[in-house]
Amino acid sequence: MPMPKQVPNSQPLTGPQQALRKLGLHRPTDLALHLPLRYEDETRLVQLRDVREGAVAQVEGTVRHSEVRLGGQRQLLVTLDDGTGTCLLRFFSFYPSMQKALAVGCRVRVRGEVRGGFGGLTMMHPSVKAAGGVLPNALTPVYPTVAGLPQTYLRRAVDNALQQADLSDTVPPDLLQQIGIQPRWNVREALIFLHHPQPGLALDALPDHSHPAWQRLKAEELLAQQLSQLQAKRARSKLRAPTLASAVPSALVARLLAALPFELTLAQRRVCAEIAQDLQRPVPMHRLLQGDVGSGKTVVAALAGAQCIEAGWQCALMAPTEILATQHFTKLVSWLQPLGITVAWLTGSQKARERREMLALVANGQAQLVVGTHAMIQDRVQFKNLALVVIDEQHRFGVAQRLALRSKMRADTSEEDLGQGHRGTGFAGPQSVAPLGGEATTQSESATGVEPHLLMMTATPIPRTLAMSYYADLDVSTLDELPPGRTPVLTKLINDVRRDEVVQRIRAQITEGQQIYWVCPLIEESEVLDLANATATHAQLSAALPGVSVGLLHSRMPVAEKKAVMELFTSGQMALLVSTTVIEVGVDVPNASLMVIEHAERFGLSQLHQLRGRVGRGAAASACVLLYSTGDAPRLGEAARERLRAMIETNDGFEIARRDLQIRGPGEFMGARQSGDALLRFADLQTDTALLHWARCTAPRMLDAYPALAQRHVQRWLGSKADYLKA
Ligand code: ADP
Ligand code: MG
Repeated sequence: MPMPKQVPNSQPLTGPQQALRKLGLHRPTDLALHLPLRYEDETRLVQLRDVREGAVAQVEGTVRHSEVRLGGQRQLLVTLDDGTGTCLLRFFSFYPSMQKALAVGCRVRVRGEVRGGFGGLTMMHPSVKAAGGVLPNALTPVYPTVAGLPQTYLRRAVDNALQQADLSDTVPPDLLQQIGIQPRWNVREALIFLHHPQPGLALDALPDHSHPAWQRLKAEELLAQQLSQLQAKRARSKLRAPTLASAVPSALVARLLAALPFELTLAQRRVCAEIAQDLQRPVPMHRLLQGDVGSGKTVVAALAGAQCIEAGWQCALMAPTEILATQHFTKLVSWLQPLGITVAWLTGSQKARERREMLALVANGQAQLVVGTHAMIQDRVQFKNLALVVIDEQHRFGVAQRLALRSKMRADTSEEDLGQGHRGTGFAGPQSVAPLGGEATTQSESATGVEPHLLMMTATPIPRTLAMSYYADLDVSTLDELPPGRTPVLTKLINDVRRDEVVQRIRAQITEGQQIYWVCPLIEESEVLDLANATATHAQLSAALPGVSVGLLHSRMPVAEKKAVMELFTSGQMALLVSTTVIEVGVDVPNASLMVIEHAERFGLSQLHQLRGRVGRGAAASACVLLYSTGDAPRLGEAARERLRAMIETNDGFEIARRDLQIRGPGEFMGARQSGDALLRFADLQTDTALLHWARCTAPRMLDAYPALAQRHVQRWLGSKADYLKA
């Protein structure tokens, strides 16, 4: 096995080196922070007569017998004798080299789980080495790895890294005192200990990360995250943004409010005021608007947009799907066009000519509001004077898309715009300006310039601990009230064997003029099966409900067709809509009062809640039927049952999010797409709240008193990932 070395970038990487990259292990520091999942105790040899059945044992002995048995499954059978007893070693897959190492007369050291039985002691697939090597005096680490990266290689790479990396402390002792971390566990000591702990030493405290060495590293990790968020926040506060609102209430807002067919809820008014405050400041807003499905976020966005437009700037609203973008477009046009506002439209499926026209409107500033999908962050889209960006269902956008949007926003707004203020003037080329603060900037603050205000909206509320950590640099507004007149959705769990009853009920509802969604599950990794499934259900329901207009909507349909189907459903001409999860986000058809979700056990909790949010939007009492199937199993798995139970027990999006976090843990809750990577590797937001609080208090003190150390600390822990945290 070659020793891993630092290779210059120009040389081709070997397999294991590539695998290291894949794990994000670029620098010696990254390797030093790559901590074991568990340990193996190879420090001791035991004698076969002392071996306990079921225990993992390491034994040295001589091979007495070795044969390849062919009947049945081919296997290599070896009898090992250590003078105190014998043990049968059994291998179902083996190479000729292994056969050679285990030839009669060879002395070997094997390690594996010992089982008892008829023929005496047995080990299945033990690890095999030549006998007589020195025994290690520390436990052997087992690292998280990927295919093509053997543990032995990784161990050597980590050991080298522990020597090469600068592991000196970055957090000054006075800041550490408050959490009672003992000086013994400085970073270097803690890392060396965790990579190679002594056998028998407080081992119980290792797996659950409660050992003081773990505490130290978790504290460090949380602090790095807080520091990086704080840096981003401070950098942002030095940026400039156009002021879009003043203390004088906007006339356009007043006209829009007067034209709406409803009164704002108290929550909507409060949130609008929070946003208006931000828009009065010459610093870019960075606000998350969270509100349960149906709480009325769109109108809040429209009102913010109206302020922006009245001040003479462009506003963009980006939605994750074409269907949703279409709905927003239709709704916003109906609200704003009568007030003389031009709304443009940008999506990927647009015809070339229409797109060209739209691009021209966007570039010359005639389009005051631009609605669309992520097609609007493509290179060719140039805004004349973009000052407010609203991202709907922001959790649906990947980190990369959010980063792209940020840089686009920056490039498209220039200081000249800022000075001129009003529409029809200004220059739309990329240009950066000095930050407001004017003082020396650290590296992370160098990308200064003018940024539009950013409003992100989500129906997946962020539980408090996550808000304190992942979203620490975000201001949060919450719509905690639904518009009046909504009846809570009644949720029922029904076994799929009673499907016919459900179909009967559908028939009755349709006769009463209600509209119904029937959602088919996404079949993992297979859009084709997914489609087949939805198509089959569509055929089945059409046959079972003669005379009923049953539509089909799935993600592979051409956009025009999707639109046509959606229009039929929205206008009430279609009674039953069978669809894959394409309707999941944002769709708003108030007359729909029943939702059936097939194979509900396969859906994630927040997804189920989002889907359910499609009904209960009108005055009629609404219901959601969760059809589940246990398949061949006698009953559902634990997590699936937890999810379905949560759905029946609560309609509250915040409670749903809390339970979701509980069931999945923060890493998955955020989703790999969301977090860029598992951003917290060691700390656990649920259990490490004390450390999280400490990190939150300590970050500003460290950044003020020890800026250079803070920078080093963030680099050490986050390296290239620091960017992702700011997305
Ligand atoms: P979400 O927060 O899920 O995006 P929407 O913005 O789609 O919710 O609003 C849901 C529905 O409620 C829409 O039909 C919208 O016009 C309506 N709505 C919004 N605010 C109010 C209100 N204050 N009173 C009554 N209906 C409202
Ligand atoms: Mg919405």
